[in-house]
Amino acid sequence: MGVPAKYWEKVDNNKVRCLLCPHQCLINDSKSGLCLIRKNIDGILQQTSYGQMCSASFDPIEKKPLYHFHPGKDILSIGSNGCNMKCRHCQNWEISTKETNRQEALTDKLLKLSNNNNSIGIAYTYNEPIVWFEFIYDCAKVFKEAGQANVLVSNGQINSEPLAELIPYIDAANIDLKGFTEEFYKNEGGYLKTTMNTIETMTKAGVHLELTNLVILTLNDDPKTFEEMCRYISHLSKEIPLHLSRYFPQHKSEIKLTPNDTLIEFRNIANKYLNYVYLGNVSIKDGSNTNCPNCDTILIQRSGYKTDCLTRNNICPNCSAQLSILF
Ligand code: SF4
Ligand code: SF4
Repeated sequence: MGVPAKYWEKVDNNKVRCLLCPHQCLINDSKSGLCLIRKNIDGILQQTSYGQMCSASFDPIEKKPLYHFHPGKDILSIGSNGCNMKCRHCQNWEISTKETNRQEALTDKLLKLSNNNNSIGIAYTYNEPIVWFEFIYDCAKVFKEAGQANVLVSNGQINSEPLAELIPYIDAANIDLKGFTEEFYKNEGGYLKTTMNTIETMTKAGVHLELTNLVILTLNDDPKTFEEMCRYISHLSKEIPLHLSRYFPQHKSEIKLTPNDTLIEFRNIANKYLNYVYLGNVSIKDGSNTNCPNCDTILIQRSGYKTDCLTRNNICPNCSAQLSILF
């Protein structure tokens, strides 16, 4: 089922221009935009995967990854097809780069599923949810009205106007800050300035925000650029958790696995600026525990997706420092 898309304009000769993300694709009749899933049908831009998902499961919230938003709880997680970036290393390329079988996604049924399974709400994840804008917007409204959480796991490639429309319904987000140069983003098919705008807008709006940086040798492993990125995040807030994720060769990328030493070096740099830095996709001792930024007491212990909260207060039990965790 397709629906008329939001955010587009008619151009000459039955062409349309999509205005949802910074690519602003100019789309000929019967063709799709770069994200595959928004199509010009008879001079009208349609979102063609509305109400259709290809993945749904209950995941630990830590898997998004979100470590400071209801730690230890589960969340219904759904995804569909398409993406507006073209990362060579995409882990989810099987659903992000082509259309696959999809099953019906009805917002009322999803809400019931979440309620009946002790889930804190719903996460829009796996592929890039922004290209599914019309559906996630409607679904988020239903969940918000029911008092359930909406979580966005995204590359942040969305224009300001649709972002402003969506944000009031989003409780938490993990945004990929993939690198810190426009050149890096260009190679992956995106724009750094757009992701920065999304991060800044969400911070100002009070959305619970965590960031992920996938560290890839030769592409974004320059320590100075990384330090600049950490400084930038700290100017927004030192409390924003940063997840440094280990890269594995995937899809079209043949760059070798990121060594543990690189991740540890980057964690040491990030720790100079930020209160909460985590290592993901890797088993490094204490890499995913939450410690008090003031006295270093362990507050949450994590091993794989097993999470033990040693406190459920937002105050350190040892030194009484104020924490920034939504239990
Ligand atoms: S959302 Fe898709 S069709 Fe629209 S501008 Fe972005 S890539 Fe192009
Ligand atoms: S933004 Fe995410 S889903 Fe899209 S291509 Fe990159 S890694 Fe894949």
